[in-house]
Amino acid sequence: MSRDNPTPQKFTCPLLEIRDLNLDFGTPRGRVHALHNVSLDVPAGQVVGIVGESGSGKSTLAYTVMGLLAENAEVTAGSIVFEGRELLTMPAQARRSLLGDRLSMIFQDPMTALNPVRTIESQMIDIQHHEQVSRSEKRARALEMLHRVGIPDPQSRIGAYPHHFSGGMRQRVCIAMALLVKPALLVADEPTTALDATLEVQIIHLLKDLQKEIGCSILFVSHHLGAVAELCDRVAVMYAGEVVEQGAVRDIFHNPAHPYTRALLECDPGRIKKSTRTLPTIPGEVPSLLATKVGCIFRSRCRHAFDRCEQENPVDHPIGFDHVARCHLLVEERLVPA
Ligand code: SF4
Repeated sequence: MSRDNPTPQKFTCPLLEIRDLNLDFGTPRGRVHALHNVSLDVPAGQVVGIVGESGSGKSTLAYTVMGLLAENAEVTAGSIVFEGRELLTMPAQARRSLLGDRLSMIFQDPMTALNPVRTIESQMIDIQHHEQVSRSEKRARALEMLHRVGIPDPQSRIGAYPHHFSGGMRQRVCIAMALLVKPALLVADEPTTALDATLEVQIIHLLKDLQKEIGCSILFVSHHLGAVAELCDRVAVMYAGEVVEQGAVRDIFHNPAHPYTRALLECDPGRIKKSTRTLPTIPGEVPSLLATKVGCIFRSRCRHAFDRCEQENPVDHPIGFDHVARCHLLVEERLVPA
């Protein structure tokens, strides 16, 4: 018995709605404010990318949605509504039952995501535990999905262990497992980071095809802007735990408004026209998230910073249809065209 995903028309509100989310990690050095005032929607049937430097909070946000955070994490404010239900106050068992059913995840490292002492077959059958069908039917589905993700001769490979597969093939197996359950939302945390460039392109195309076929939404975390441009409908740019800009992929890539988004795009090797031996970087470092700061979180690295940036936190400012950025320059209409 298969469970088709709800069509996009079935939910009038976004499939996933994150509002004003704050999350801290308790550490011996104090509380680390890992997410600050994060609001983000994932509409049904769409792919939403999250980009930003390492330490910007991308993966923390993904793990928060999945409810897979470390014990020292504490959500201090906000809400995460998925299919109309608040995840943060949901009983633990009810939330767990969503995993591998309505919500599934692809992790960055396929070797640690798979159980090394169990065959692919047993893991792919186990992940279908929500399905009321026979073991042979589950196996047939697993074979079909392995074939779909490009594993050659799945009939003979399904009995192998993860270490029998290359890194690219292991990630294909992980994608097959994540999509086998026909989730409503797939959270993909840097799924191509451990792969070489050729494999990355293949995996992106595979994800794109399968997303269309299954009709699920994807929350796609990546630091690779080219992959995000290729796969996503919408993009959220994160910096130091905040979403500083978000909008349709064409707006973010062709009409970026926040100085951080612009700097990030300027550093993208795929957009550098001249041949160079030195790749550009954004001067300075991501600030410590230990203290609560007043003012713009990007001000120490921003070449446009002015007095107001020190004194006041910027808030989301609408730029166009469904395109917002947090920067005082936009309110004061001082930002020069990119
Ligand atoms: Fe730069 Fe100020 Fe805008 Fe922050 S608010 S990005 S510091 S100009």
